[in-house]
Amino acid sequence: MKPVLPGATLGVMGGGQLGRMFVHAAQRLGYFTAVLDPDPHSPAGLVSHHHIHTAYTDAAGLERLVSLCAAITTEFENVPAQALQALAASRPVAPGAACVAIAQDRIEEKAHFSACAASSGVACAPHAVIRSDANLQAVPADLLPGILKTARMGYDGKGQVRVSTRQELVDAWAQLQRVPCVLEKMLPLHAECSVLVARGFDGAMVSYPPQRNVHVDGILAVTHAYEGCLPTELAARAQAAGLAIAAQIGYVGLMCVEFFVVQSDQGQVFDLVVNEMAPRPHNSGHYTLDACDHSQFDLQVCAMAGLPLSQPRQHSPALMLNLLGDIWFDAQGQERTPDWAQVLSLPGTHLHLYGKTQARKGRKMGHLTLTGPTLAGVQASARRCAELLGLPGLDNGLNT
Ligand code: ATP
Ligand code: MG
Repeated sequence: MKPVLPGATLGVMGGGQLGRMFVHAAQRLGYFTAVLDPDPHSPAGLVSHHHIHTAYTDAAGLERLVSLCAAITTEFENVPAQALQALAASRPVAPGAACVAIAQDRIEEKAHFSACAASSGVACAPHAVIRSDANLQAVPADLLPGILKTARMGYDGKGQVRVSTRQELVDAWAQLQRVPCVLEKMLPLHAECSVLVARGFDGAMVSYPPQRNVHVDGILAVTHAYEGCLPTELAARAQAAGLAIAAQIGYVGLMCVEFFVVQSDQGQVFDLVVNEMAPRPHNSGHYTLDACDHSQFDLQVCAMAGLPLSQPRQHSPALMLNLLGDIWFDAQGQERTPDWAQVLSLPGTHLHLYGKTQARKGRKMGHLTLTGPTLAGVQASARRCAELLGLPGLDNGLNT
C-alpha cells in the first residue's frame, strides 16, 4: 500500500475517548481527522476537524466519511462489521471487518484462540458454547462454578453472570434473554495482564512489554507498567502469544490481547490463559502516552496510514489509574469536582480528562498516569493521588 501521508484526512468509526486520543495523535502528525459517531457531544467529535453524527450504518454518513478520508480505522469493536466492509470497498480500512467480527463475538474469538494455540503457546479458559437448552443440559460439571458471558456486546463486565450451580446457570441464561453465550470456568486468578501489538499492511510487527492490570468490580482500575511488573518468563510468553494471535489473522492496526495469570496445581508455577482481544487501542495501554516514545495511538495512526512502525521504547516506569464517574460524587451523593490542583501538584502526574460533561458511577471520565525516575517515587505519587481522589478498592491494587 502507498502510504497516506500527513496532510490527508484520517477517519475513525466511533467518538469515545479512544477516538479522541487517536485524533490527538493523528493531528500531532499533521493529519486532518473525521469522526463518525451519532452523539453530537462525543469526546472525539469535540476535538476533530470533521464530525459526522449519523448512525454507524447510515449510508449517507458512511459515504461522507469515504469522501473526506484517505484511510479509516475504528475505536470500538462493536461497530457493525458490515459498515467496515462497505468502507473497505473504496478506502483502506484497518483493522479489517473480518478481524473486528472475530473480536465482536466471544464464540468466534475463542475459536480463533484455540486455532492459534499451537503458534501462540497459550490456551483460552475451559468453556462451553450455549445456544440451546440442549447445550445448557450438556454443560460438563467441571465448568462450574463459572461465568456466563453473552457472546456479543459485553464490556466492562457487563453481560456477565457468575453461577455456581446448574439451577443458577439456567436462571442466568434466562436473565440474559437466552442470547448466545459462553460459559467459562471460573479460574483462580493470580493476576491479569495485557499485550499491545501493532502490525502493518506489510506484515511488520512491533509490541510493548506486557502490562499488569488490576480490575475492581469488573472494570480496569490500575495498570502497572515497569520492568518487573510481571515475572520475566511469563511476560515473554505473553508478548510472543500476542504477536502470534495478531499475525495468524493477518491483523492490520493496533491490537490488545488480555490474559489471565493462573496459579497452577503445582502452586508456584503460573499458567497463562488468553481472555480476549480488542481490535483497537486499549485502556491498559494509556500509560504509553506519557511513559513511551511512541504511544499506542501513534502506532494505530502509522499502521492505518501504511507508515513504518517504530519499535516503541518505554522511558519511565508508570502506573495508570482510571478515573470513573464515582469520584465526582461525595459520600452524600452530591456532585463535586475532584481536586485536580492538588493532584497536579505531585511530581510526575499526567491528567487526561475525556471532555465528558455528565459524570455517572462506573463511567470512564479520564485517567491519570504517574511517571518518574524511580518506581518507588511513582508508587508514592500514585498512593497520594488515590487518597486525594478517594479512589475506591485500591488497598492492594497499587502494590508491586
Ligand atoms: P472488558 O472491559 O475487558 O472488555 P469484558 O466485559 O469483556 O471486559 P471480561 O474481560 O471477559 O469482560 O471479564 C471482566 C473481568 O472479570 C476480567 O478482567 C476478570 O477479572 C474477571 N473474569 C472474567 N472471566 C473470568 C474467569 N473465567 N475466571 C476468573 N475471572 C474472570
Ligand atoms: Mg476484559
